[in-house]
Amino acid sequence: MRATMLYGPGDVRCEEVAEPKILEPTDAIIRLSATCICGSDLWPYRGANEVAAPLAMGHEYCGIVEEVGSAVTSVRPGQFVVGSFCLSDNTCPHCRFGFQSSCEQRQFMSGAQAPFARVPLADGTLVATRELPADDLIPSLLATSDVLGTGWYAAYAAGVQEGSTAVVVGDGAVGLMGVLAARQMGAGRIIAMSRHKTRQELALEFGATDIVSERGDAGVARIKELTDGVGAESVLECVGTQESMTQAMNCARPGGKIGFVGVPHGVEFDGQQLFFAQKSLLGGPAPVRRFLPDLIALVLDRTINPGKVFDLELPLADVAEGYRAMDERRAIKTLLRV
Ligand SMILES: [Zn+2]
Repeated sequence: MRATMLYGPGDVRCEEVAEPKILEPTDAIIRLSATCICGSDLWPYRGANEVAAPLAMGHEYCGIVEEVGSAVTSVRPGQFVVGSFCLSDNTCPHCRFGFQSSCEQRQFMSGAQAPFARVPLADGTLVATRELPADDLIPSLLATSDVLGTGWYAAYAAGVQEGSTAVVVGDGAVGLMGVLAARQMGAGRIIAMSRHKTRQELALEFGATDIVSERGDAGVARIKELTDGVGAESVLECVGTQESMTQAMNCARPGGKIGFVGVPHGVEFDGQQLFFAQKSLLGGPAPVRRFLPDLIALVLDRTINPGKVFDLELPLADVAEGYRAMDERRAIKTLLRV
């Protein structure tokens, strides 16, 4: 089969590789219905992470089970499944506490930008639907696998509640999903920080009530203006740079919560500043598996349409163009047809 491999900065290829096989009795092999490129794929693509050997790219997936290992009991061939980018047993103490992304057996999914993929820990990772979903729901179901699940976790970690004010820092796909999540959780006011017209429009469509286009100190000043000078109860940090984290911290009111889901690159905190700021921080890789059954149900009954975040669709063979378009911010998120 032809699948996506990253060789080094800017060098991503669709090339012939061996089809995945069952390696452990807890594995499943799935045939992907569609796959996509994640904002976090851009870190190694841009050279932020060392690439020692060609990497099999892709960790967002949904599709049909082809084959299962001898120990798999919860899914069977022919079923449509969605799984998290974090692979988990869903039985250890951390999983049972709702933090499947800290599973004692945690692995990270890879190799999903391909027609077939191997999913380890299938019983604890995959969620099957009762019947095969309609084709037009595939992009939204694919979104639950990571980008929506991560935006949802950001809103949860930021403590978004009915009637509360939420600020979303970052207008990438995860930030936009954070807006959607905050809306579903009943936030009364959702302020999206974005400078890009098309992303602002999508944020408004997903439920933002206000747009702030200023950044840094000017952005924080604008948030203070909009919140009677106090800041927001909930802030979703969806970028992972020092600038965005500082902005997020300063937008939150004392006692407020910051959910940070952008993978930090070069972010540092000062202990004393953190002490006197009196703000809660919860972040990390999202425990998407906890949210998956609910998110899938919201998609299947058409309450939410997170698939709208895909604004570029390409055949897998053109995956390199998909990376380029996201790297150059010509596309928010690329869906790949396999
Ligand atoms: Zn676990």
